[in-house]
Amino acid sequence: MVQLDSSGASDCERWLGELPSNALVEWVRARDVAEAERLVEETVGAVERRLLLAGPTEAVHGIRDRALAVGFAADDITIAASGTGLHVVHCAHCSADTESNARLGEISPCGGCGRRLVHRVHVSRRPDRFLGYDADVPHPG
Ligand SMILES: [Zn+2]
Repeated sequence: MVQLDSSGASDCERWLGELPSNALVEWVRARDVAEAERLVEETVGAVERRLLLAGPTEAVHGIRDRALAVGFAADDITIAASGTGLHVVHCAHCSADTESNARLGEISPCGGCGRRLVHRVHVSRRPDRFLGYDADVPHPG
């Protein structure tokens, strides 16, 4: 579990509460992206490891890309990006791109069709783009 700055603390605490009580958890507070990436590289050989990343949006997505590059599986990585800085949410309904500072799982209005979009997985390899679905319509996954 890598916390990149103070903004990730609450996400790390939430994860800690969700993990099995017998799970071996290492909660690391990295000073910067370089330290976080070094920690990720040191961890990659461990058995049944999962990576939890919490911190500023751009940083955690960058570290996630690094983790994938050194051998982590996408399914083994969970991220919680804090809303520091704007990103783009791509509307799944009208394809409009709207700037927002909402976090993953939060809701913001679409600049195109006005739907209330819940921010889901990021699209493409860009760290600053999320996919938004109508928050009022159930969506699988
Ligand atoms: Zn839209």
